[in-house]
Amino acid sequence: MTRPISAIININSLKNNFKIIRNIAFKSKIWLVLKADAYGHGIKNIFPVLNKKSNGFAILTIDEAIFLRINGYKKPILLLEGFFNKEELYLIYKYNLTITLHNKWQLNTLIKYKSKYPINIYIKINTGMNRLGFPTKNIIKIINIVKNQINVYKITLMTHFADASINSNFVKKQINNIKKYIHNYYEFPCSFANSAATLWHSYSHYDWIRTGIILYGASPTGDWKDISKKKIKPVMTLKSRIISIQKILPGQIVGYNCNYYTNKKRRIGIIACGYADGYPRNITAKTYVLIKGIKTKILGNVCMDMIAVDLINIPTAKIGSSVELWGENLKIDDIAKSVNTIGYELMCSLTKRVPRILK
Ligand SMILES: *Cc1c(COP(=O)(O)O)cnc(C)c1O
Repeated sequence: MTRPISAIININSLKNNFKIIRNIAFKSKIWLVLKADAYGHGIKNIFPVLNKKSNGFAILTIDEAIFLRINGYKKPILLLEGFFNKEELYLIYKYNLTITLHNKWQLNTLIKYKSKYPINIYIKINTGMNRLGFPTKNIIKIINIVKNQINVYKITLMTHFADASINSNFVKKQINNIKKYIHNYYEFPCSFANSAATLWHSYSHYDWIRTGIILYGASPTGDWKDISKKKIKPVMTLKSRIISIQKILPGQIVGYNCNYYTNKKRRIGIIACGYADGYPRNITAKTYVLIKGIKTKILGNVCMDMIAVDLINIPTAKIGSSVELWGENLKIDDIAKSVNTIGYELMCSLTKRVPRILK
């Protein structure tokens, strides 16, 4: 028997989420964001499902882009941070990639190593997030340089929102910063919206939205209840099995460091899932697993390869019983919240040794 942990990737849920995004932003094209190995789902699993439906894929590294091209993807590919060294430029030209241009070094490098073939350029504008992008007041100048000195097929204006949650007014503020400084902004295609803005700020959709997290079925806010009415479905279910049962007496301990004592007789299940699988170590009293439809608590520390759970209310659980760590029934947002993070981080932290299995 192989070790029983796996991440089940539900293809129908993925298609369902795509359809919902397609309907919400019905006027826009969609960059499906496949960075971080498709948010931990495996780019090689996700890409074939969405290949035909997609308008384009957004990724982070040149390797991801080349993977897509080598596997026959002919539509646009966007490098979300452009290039990091001049050697990558040659590959960008070779594979006809769309690049984000966000700093002076990139601009100067592009001017220096021009291409025979035109490429598409997303000029990233810092409208308030203060992470990447040119200052709004310089944008007209930058656009003119790009237009006149670089072999560019199409310029698109791009920005990223710092807070696009439901009641945020920061989205409007950031868009207004563009309108204020770039009076003719509507002459260019625009790409501003991430998942949150796609769901809750439809005026921000413009030509291309860029959706990641909702494609995978978790909430951009980290709160499942914010998207629970949108019919979005979790794509990944992390599953394992009970590999040992221990019956312990009052006063005995569970796990390392003797920091969990039981004050009564207990039946404990040991599950094949630990922090080396990407399960968070900093669990709290609100971190549950699901066995036979019943939520139960983790006892003691999360180990590298195992966790111990309370089986007191699940008498039928035995060695081999299936356990859901997060997924269709136990929302990744809830688990993430219980350990003070967001679904994004849990998905991306799932390690290589967990097989991804398509369903
Ligand atoms: C990752 C990323 C996105 C997708 O964000 P989600 O919140 O997952 O939709 C969009 N735009 C940029 C620039 C990104 O880096």
